[in-house]
Amino acid sequence: MMVGKRIEIKGIVQGVGFRPFIYTLAKQFKLNGWVKNTSNGVIIEVDGETASVEQFIRHITRFPPPLAHIDALESFDIPQNSFKDFQIVESEAIQGAFVPIAPDMAICDDCRRELFDPNNPRFRYPFINCTNCGPRFTIIKDIPYDRPFTTMADFPMCEFCETEYRDPANRRFHAQPVACPTCGPHIWLEIDGKEVADHENALQRALQMLKNGKIVAIKGLGGFHLACDASNDQAVRRLRERKHRSEKPLAVMVFDTDTAQKYCELSQAEIDFLESKEKPIVLAHKRTGGGISDAVAPGTNRLGIMLPYTPLHLLLLEPHRGSPDILVMTSANLSEEPIAYTNGDAFSRLESIADAFLMHNREIYMRTDDSVLSEFRGQAYLSRRARGFAPQPIRLPEESPMILATGAELKNTFCLSKDRYAFLSHHIGDLENAETLHSFEEAITHYERIFRTQPHAIACDLHPDYLASHYAQQRACREELPLFQIQHHHAHLAACLADNGWNSGEKVMGVILDGTGLGSDNTIWGGEFLLGNYDGFERQYHLQTTPQPGGDAATQIPARMALAHLWQANIPWDEGLAPVDYFTGEEKSVLQQQLRQSINSPLTSSMGRLFDAAAALIGIREKVAYEAQAAIELEALCVDDEKGYYPVFIEQDQIKIDSLWQQMIRDIKNQTPAAILATRFHNSIVEMIREVVLKMREESGINVVVLSGGVWQNEYLLSHTIPLLEKSDFQILWHHQVPTNDGGISLGQLMIAMHSIKKIGRG
Ligand code: ZN
Ligand code: ZN
Ligand code: FE
Repeated sequence: MMVGKRIEIKGIVQGVGFRPFIYTLAKQFKLNGWVKNTSNGVIIEVDGETASVEQFIRHITRFPPPLAHIDALESFDIPQNSFKDFQIVESEAIQGAFVPIAPDMAICDDCRRELFDPNNPRFRYPFINCTNCGPRFTIIKDIPYDRPFTTMADFPMCEFCETEYRDPANRRFHAQPVACPTCGPHIWLEIDGKEVADHENALQRALQMLKNGKIVAIKGLGGFHLACDASNDQAVRRLRERKHRSEKPLAVMVFDTDTAQKYCELSQAEIDFLESKEKPIVLAHKRTGGGISDAVAPGTNRLGIMLPYTPLHLLLLEPHRGSPDILVMTSANLSEEPIAYTNGDAFSRLESIADAFLMHNREIYMRTDDSVLSEFRGQAYLSRRARGFAPQPIRLPEESPMILATGAELKNTFCLSKDRYAFLSHHIGDLENAETLHSFEEAITHYERIFRTQPHAIACDLHPDYLASHYAQQRACREELPLFQIQHHHAHLAACLADNGWNSGEKVMGVILDGTGLGSDNTIWGGEFLLGNYDGFERQYHLQTTPQPGGDAATQIPARMALAHLWQANIPWDEGLAPVDYFTGEEKSVLQQQLRQSINSPLTSSMGRLFDAAAALIGIREKVAYEAQAAIELEALCVDDEKGYYPVFIEQDQIKIDSLWQQMIRDIKNQTPAAILATRFHNSIVEMIREVVLKMREESGINVVVLSGGVWQNEYLLSHTIPLLEKSDFQILWHHQVPTNDGGISLGQLMIAMHSIKKIGRG
């Protein structure tokens, strides 16, 4: 029997080769009709045999093109049209409608083959791409996604490219960034502001410099990298010195998985992540004796490693052409500033760091850093969501009004909602300087434009002094919008629920372990056991409060936190203990006075600060060079065969840790090795969590446990807590699509604001 069908598809279906895919498929199933893009998806109409039409639809959902992501497919019976053939017809614009935009994707296998094929017109062309790969989000200025609205507008296509672009059977059909050496962008090398080489010569000269231990700024997909030979100790140290980044680990790039295995122990899942089309930085276990400089990632057993994701990266790392085996590829910025992304910006900010600049003239419109993830139970566990992932929307458990959530202070992201989508921004950075604030504001404006959103409400952190909260307050005031100030750890809980597609009103237990967040009682929270849902929360139990002498300054000096904890537990500051010896006698008496008279010593229940205190007491780190360094180094020492732990006590709503310190100090005085101490400390936290959630389940009858907050980046903690709770039959939710750290906060804020709005609407 013959039928007519209309098929409407929503999701990431534009700029990803969707229409040629439909065209080929329709031919294959002998269907006539048409396909077209609209401003909110793709529409297809076909005539054909019932069975063929059904198979056609099944095929679309099962085998879409690699970059496509179908969120919804609906089909309707329509009268037959007696189409004569199958056609791709012109796009149709709908006012105010939008489509999700594909993230930037790593070079595909077909393009890679052509890149290294001497007979191909794009042989060794650094900007080769097709519908299945290449830049997207970073070059888009506006929608619809068409070349004139991208930074490729400046490059009119040559005849050869145009033929491919117009041919529905070609894999470059409507690939907006398509280019070749004749018509497209090119590379050149600059030293001291002067162009010294271009094209292949630029590449060779850059390679030579890298080989000779020089630092080269390389323009990439979402911004500049600073590169140097990672096996050259002097080069790496020079880079650190110039970049003012003394110890924070640097990411590296190698040509392929085989090379990666020389430097890291890789699981199959980690290999899959490395080779995925997103090409993130994978935090893998470092192999000892791989020949990499100790200065690349000191104090940690992890190495952030990635594979080339642009043709230029491949050309730079191609073996047997004189390139170093492994390159440091770190975001090009002075510490804490956003990544440099325009040619002018790169010069002015990196002049004092880079010996040369490998430039190109394809403009980056929206800067994005590399994404960072690790493997947990075979799945991705993100610590930074950026290139390759953003702006892929998170599917919301329910439809939402348009809301803007401005996120937290550190590792900031913001989030916008529309329909059933949450557009979680790429990683913006630490909102502590004007540069980052500017890139935050710029990105919000851009997202609102390309996703056609105009927020009806704004959500921000409860902390009034965060720059993101300032922005929210000012904007809510200016545009007369309702403002929702959301408690930080409640937002973590909601973020994890949304991450897991949670759409029930049921309450859950939240084990929110974090560095810093303003609590509802004006103290600093961070070791929180909450009971709640999107609608609200109660703080059931928390880590005991301890003074944080010097406030924020204490986060840089874990030794201070250690002494504060000892003081709190009435344990004497005995000489021989690392944090006691760290300070001079005078410093100690000032500290003591500060604690006794509570001068600038806000109370905190932070779990992050507890890890700091433990690391200091064990003598691992008294002063840190970057955020969470003490905790990272403490975790790196943990061993799997140590089962001991120190007890804690629950007293009313506080978890008391005096006995933990007493026993740890006894161990320290007995010369217990640091690895055993570190492991016992971790085990104590795992055991503490088990005890508290068992008690909470007894009291509430609730069985679902949510694990969120920055401390959950600690894999020892994660991989020991989950199995233990599983043994007691808890249902456990942790993060998958968004980071467990403050990079996920904005999604949680948005969910909570959405529920408040709906409640107001109902009531
Ligand atoms: Zn390709
Ligand atoms: Zn061309
Ligand atoms: Fe947090």
